[in-house]
Amino acid sequence: MQDRLQALKEEALLKIEQASDLKALQDIKVSYLGKKGPITEVLKGMGKLSPEERPVVGAYANEVRDAITSALELKISELEQAVIEEKLKKESIDVTLPGRPVRKGNAHPLTAVIEEIEDLFLTMGFTVAEGPEVETDYYNFEALNLPKDHPARDMQDSFFITEDILLRTQTSPVQARTMEKHHGRGPVKIISPGKVYRRDDDDATHSHQFMQIEGLVVDENVRLSDLKGVLETFAKKMFGEERKIRLRPSFFPFTEPSVEMDISCFKCGGKGCSICKHTGWIEILGAGMVHPNVLEMAGFDSKKYTGFAFGMGPERIAMLKYGIDDIRHFYTNDLRFLKQFKKA
Ligand SMILES: [Zn+2]
Repeated sequence: MQDRLQALKEEALLKIEQASDLKALQDIKVSYLGKKGPITEVLKGMGKLSPEERPVVGAYANEVRDAITSALELKISELEQAVIEEKLKKESIDVTLPGRPVRKGNAHPLTAVIEEIEDLFLTMGFTVAEGPEVETDYYNFEALNLPKDHPARDMQDSFFITEDILLRTQTSPVQARTMEKHHGRGPVKIISPGKVYRRDDDDATHSHQFMQIEGLVVDENVRLSDLKGVLETFAKKMFGEERKIRLRPSFFPFTEPSVEMDISCFKCGGKGCSICKHTGWIEILGAGMVHPNVLEMAGFDSKKYTGFAFGMGPERIAMLKYGIDDIRHFYTNDLRFLKQFKKA
């Protein structure tokens, strides 16, 4: 009987060893240790044994049971561990895979042009000044020598919030605000970039909102030739060293004398083409010597101090520089347009 038990034990242990999944082990458990299993069968025959043999065989049968049970438990935990490891392997993150590329943005062409202009003037000793876009009538017009009945106001119709508060039509109010802060003492040397607003019908060259960059220098003995020198440096740095400039007489209420600056055409070099409208010259900005009234209103002694101011449109400069044909491209946020200005 013991031999039979011994054989069953070896057979069961071998099967457990060879089992490859939990289902197989469950089947082994049922078939060997179950009520209808061979060990139970063997034990049923115990009655035929002598009283001396019975406890010996009974003890051995228990030993066989225990051996099979612990072998099963060991194998079950081994298989469970293998299942967990397999799962971990499948779900692990492969850090050697390349990541999804993050799309990099680029500066808006207007921002790029404004920063380029700012950098250029910073190297000439200017500082950047800013002012509010919602402005009072006083700073937007009156302090700039544009009293309420001045006809030049018609060219700058704006969006009024009240009779005395409006969206600024130009960056020039920053001139008046900055000069006031200097309490009549020079030098003042600023450029002021920012958004301005005018009541205008939008088309390829007009927009109700656009950018301006204003420049102002006030000090003793500032002359028109100083203005010319600064503008010439700007034109050459921005559009090429071989550029020539010319100043044409013009009118602005806040400067006297006033000029418009043209640069020699960078496309045809002066011979005449579609960009320069066959004149060889391209209009870039307006400028002039600060009107004595503007200096006096801002608290400067116009007998002691003189100054010059200039104003330009970054849109126009960007359009010329990059050959952009419609001002509306700047404001519609079409990525196909904006991505073309990615720096290499
Ligand atoms: Zn040309």
